[in-house]
Amino acid sequence: MFDVHKIREDFPILSQKIHNKPLVYLDNAATTQKPKCVIDALVEYYSQYNSNIHRGVHTLSQKATEHYEATRDKIKNFINAKNREEIIFTRGTTEAINLVANSYGMHFLKENDEIIISHLEHHANIVPWQIVCQKTGAKLKIIPINNDGEIIFDEYLKLLNEKTKFVALSHISNALGTITPIKQFIEKAHSMNIPVLIDAAQSAQHLSLDVQDLGCDFLTVSGHKLYAPTGIGFLYGKKNLLEKMPPYQSGGDMILSVSFEKTIYNELPFKFEAGTHNIADTVAFGKAIEYIENIGIEKIYQYENDLLEYGTNLLSEIKGLRIIGTAKNKASIISFIFDDIHPHDIGTFLDSDGIAVRSGHHCTQPIMKFFGIPATTRASISFYNTKEELLQLSEGLKRVVKLFQS
Ligand code: PMP
Repeated sequence: MFDVHKIREDFPILSQKIHNKPLVYLDNAATTQKPKCVIDALVEYYSQYNSNIHRGVHTLSQKATEHYEATRDKIKNFINAKNREEIIFTRGTTEAINLVANSYGMHFLKENDEIIISHLEHHANIVPWQIVCQKTGAKLKIIPINNDGEIIFDEYLKLLNEKTKFVALSHISNALGTITPIKQFIEKAHSMNIPVLIDAAQSAQHLSLDVQDLGCDFLTVSGHKLYAPTGIGFLYGKKNLLEKMPPYQSGGDMILSVSFEKTIYNELPFKFEAGTHNIADTVAFGKAIEYIENIGIEKIYQYENDLLEYGTNLLSEIKGLRIIGTAKNKASIISFIFDDIHPHDIGTFLDSDGIAVRSGHHCTQPIMKFFGIPATTRASISFYNTKEELLQLSEGLKRVVKLFQS
């Protein structure tokens, strides 16, 4: 049984009041709250075995190394990767995409090659590829979207050709919630031997991911959107590709030997993990994954999907409210506008009611441009949210409308 009230007890932050009202946290696409087991893991690490990893023979170092490496195994199982060496710790999705762009992109792409992304991408999956294009002379091609905010598959097929050398797509849009059927996109690219990167920053927390089944060559995840601390995430990459790629950053830990004449790089995954990482956050990331697995990602998806449907129906009834992003297949996100009320005013008003939503362009300015708007208000749902909270959101919005119409 999925008992949301019991689950909420695991998240200490949720029981507080904001402006004397119970906190309603609906900004989960920006970052999720942390269960107590994750917070405890940080305290335990720093109070009991804080130490640098890999290089030490002493007990604390060995314990820290064991816990750090255990997270790699948990991630491997969580996304069903074939090898643990295919999991590279990064600060998050942004750094993971930058790693691939700088290493694979700068090394293997050249003038007049084409990189395909979509109109639905977060800036983190646009700008690194623009820089690769500036530096290599490759060209960026954009798959258009339709008015529901879905990537148009037929347009993708038209863009694919013998010059296409890389495809990078988000799985779920952080601005609209659209779920893209990525497997079909990956299969098509692979039929032409083109590698594919999937930005899973918004999907790892909602959908069960199986990288072997999807077949993607790279996949990027941010821990903080998956109930883990900020500053930790990972890149999954197929071993044969990672082996061919040069290091992204260099220094300690990524080497086997260094002399002034010649340096030999370390093997995977360490070749891509230069310097001391945020060990505590990595350990706590492992706890977050355990926590999610204990509830079950399928149950999470089902519950969140019910909330999404309920919230969408409630908000659709509000006069003047227009939902932006009406894809057939959506997850956890309701983005909306009113013609005559600025999203920032809505966000500020809701905050005075204790309701946290996000107003802005959500780091997706091309999507805003497509819909001819500067920004939206976005409510994003997690499995610790409730129908009562969505009702509060809808009542709060009705009060905003009244206020601005009076
Ligand atoms: N891609 C998507 C789809 C996102 O939602 C985000 C975060 N909003 C990112 C990339 C970047 O993630 P991070 O800031 O955690 O690196």
